[in-house]
Amino acid sequence: MTAPDPSQQPYRFPIAARYAGMASSPLKDIFALAAREDVVSFAGGIPDPELFAVEDVTACYDWVLQHQGHRALQYGVSEGELELREQAARRLSRDLPTDASQIRVTSGSQEGLFVIAQAMLEPGDVVLVESPTYLAAVQAFGVHGARMIGVDTDDDGVIAEALEEAIRTHHPRMVYLIPTFQNPTGRTMPRARREAVAEVLRRTGVPLIEDDPYGALSFSGTSWAPIASLPGMGERTILLNSMSKLMSPGVRIGWMRAEGPILDTLAVAKAAISMQSSVVDQLTVARYLETADLDTHIARVSGVYRERRDAMARTLTPVLPDGAHVTHPEGGMFLWAALGEGFDAQEMLADAVDSGVAYLPGWSFFADHADRSTMRLSFVTHSPTVIEDAIGRLGEVIAAHPRR
Ligand code: PMP
Repeated sequence: MTAPDPSQQPYRFPIAARYAGMASSPLKDIFALAAREDVVSFAGGIPDPELFAVEDVTACYDWVLQHQGHRALQYGVSEGELELREQAARRLSRDLPTDASQIRVTSGSQEGLFVIAQAMLEPGDVVLVESPTYLAAVQAFGVHGARMIGVDTDDDGVIAEALEEAIRTHHPRMVYLIPTFQNPTGRTMPRARREAVAEVLRRTGVPLIEDDPYGALSFSGTSWAPIASLPGMGERTILLNSMSKLMSPGVRIGWMRAEGPILDTLAVAKAAISMQSSVVDQLTVARYLETADLDTHIARVSGVYRERRDAMARTLTPVLPDGAHVTHPEGGMFLWAALGEGFDAQEMLADAVDSGVAYLPGWSFFADHADRSTMRLSFVTHSPTVIEDAIGRLGEVIAAHPRR
């Protein structure tokens, strides 16, 4: 038998083992679903574009190009433009004294997570995460060879005793938490839990990666200071913020706050990945933070989201099976339902999509021991009427899939 002629075969690039089997990411598939016009999608965390402050942002781009055009179109510095770092430090200093020199600008928090992984992780390192946690963080850490281990949570977030036990057993390189309006559950860690977790981290010396893209989107007006602001935590936490949920996910601007020598490594890693984030976008966001009233904008957006959360909670609760558990988020974008043993949200999805409604099956948010009965529903994209109608249809799909 003669060997096949390679020139006659379709050409295939070699693929690194760390990406093998990742031809599509669950997130990419969500965005495809969300784009289908016949489906009301609760799957992605997609802000309602009607709420974007297009006029204000346009004015800021115009101003930057007119007044700083030559600089805005030039290369910048890996740390990020000073004006933006100053604005970021000003906002953070409400809870945690921060100097512009402690800020590193990123192209969204997603890049921040990747930069941190580049700077801190060796293949085989363990990262402790909430169970469940943000899927794309698992991906950013995973492609660097990290092993994610889920730590048990309850309605108040990660359980401090379980965290301590997991640290003792697994010797993690870092702990990754989303304490406020978490993705995917919408849960928030109360103050006492934050203090208990901080105490464990101080005692064990394990650094915290605190991801806080949703904290400002509070429905009750309660503001949640990050764990990084608790005594002794500023120096052992890298805190990530993003403009994606507050101003625009399309501009791709976020930042992280850290202290000490890691700041230099983060800048080197950022330079290796992308040199720097877009200068024109950074200067525009800085101008926006300086001149627009972001707090008023956030209050307006949060008010709209609260009505949508109410619409979803009101219609979803009665259509869930007995024994199901649903979170009641006080902010952010997501609601999380666990239908309970004997249900499989992934299996149900095809029928849901056929009836014109999509959610994200929850199993993909677990680093291990997935609960397949769970689903994440984002309430931010659609109006209350659309939500109520679509949840009604979802209820029919759930009823047609009895417990097994
Ligand atoms: N972290 C969390 C917890 C998120 O939910 C998201 C967005 N879905 C990100 C980070 C990344 O957001 P961005 O890159 O748009 O800032």
